[in-house]
Amino acid sequence: MTRTAIAVRRIRRPAGAPQPDDFAYVDVPIPLLESGEVLVHNLFLSVDPYHRELMDLEGEGWRRGFGLEGRSLGRVIASREPALVPGTIVAHRHGWSSHAVLTAADVRVIERVAGVPLSAYLGILGDTGLTAYVGLLRVAGLRRGEDVFISAAAGAVGGAAGQIARLLGARRVVGSAGSPEKVKHLTHRLGFDAAFDYHDGLAEQLALAAPRGVDVYFDNVGGEHLEAAIGALREGGRVAWCGAVAQYDHLAEPPSAPRNLYAVVGKRLRIEGFLVRDHQDARAEFEALLSPRLQAGDVTVDETVTEGIEHTVDAFLGMLRGENIGKAVVKLTED
Ligand code: NAP
Repeated sequence: MTRTAIAVRRIRRPAGAPQPDDFAYVDVPIPLLESGEVLVHNLFLSVDPYHRELMDLEGEGWRRGFGLEGRSLGRVIASREPALVPGTIVAHRHGWSSHAVLTAADVRVIERVAGVPLSAYLGILGDTGLTAYVGLLRVAGLRRGEDVFISAAAGAVGGAAGQIARLLGARRVVGSAGSPEKVKHLTHRLGFDAAFDYHDGLAEQLALAAPRGVDVYFDNVGGEHLEAAIGALREGGRVAWCGAVAQYDHLAEPPSAPRNLYAVVGKRLRIEGFLVRDHQDARAEFEALLSPRLQAGDVTVDETVTEGIEHTVDAFLGMLRGENIGKAVVKLTED
């Protein structure tokens, strides 16, 4: 059995955009299992924008010499926990490492749906898809026949939100993304009605894509995207504020946008932030909606896969730069 794990460590707190040498790969001894513990060999690691946020939190997220918390999928390869026999596939949050020693309380057993790739449980069938689902349904209260705008739409949550909005009966689904290739992906692969490259002008492009406005804005970006969306929202519109990826490198600085926040009053808008961790009770109904659609091929598993744990930091930094389409995951080799 393997005696050491490879783990990613943060060794420097970034100033602005993180750099490769803010991290190090280290060999970590794997302790002998105690009663109630299992050894998990990770198969897929998730790299997410919230890791950038964690890098600025002393104590919780940025501790010299400690590894990154991270969502992962792995296989139990040794067990001193009768409920988790070797071979069991589990999801957990102790990733950015090749192996993890965990207890039953640390893991969620994955009951795989036939025909759905394992990595989808980090993406559209995992917390990524659940984020999109609860943001649209519970937070924004999306109703059939309403029009939706989604930012970072070619990313993990955004692509899921576009597809799920359609399943929930949205009428017009509009997305913004950072390149012409992504725009084409949204309209040709994911079924968006219209999409635009935000580098071409936000308010102008949004007005062209949604000339009669929108009812719901699913915000992954914040700042100028939120400003443009406030301008485009109809009276009574709702914003599900999921994230602010445009701001994570400079969270300590006051944002220059939105400058039109007071329009919230005149238009009777509602802006509500949310965290998917508060909505885990929606997982069963979410999976019941998504699983058959995935099996039927009506919903696309959209992902960018980077191979090898030694490329985890590349995958993370690339995702922050917008190099991913769909969920950015790292695939580990199984030895
Ligand atoms: P993602 O969208 O797959 O990847 C991040 C994307 O952000 C990049 O692909 C890039 O795409 C875009 N981006 C980067 N810098 C940008 C900028 N300055 N302006 C506009 N777009 C920019 O990541 P994700 O995991 O799906 O996360 C999306 C958002 O959801 C993030 O804000 C994240 O923090 C949030 N989130 C929140 C929850 C929750 O519980 N509230 C859960 C999961 C995720 P482009 O090429 O289009 O620029």
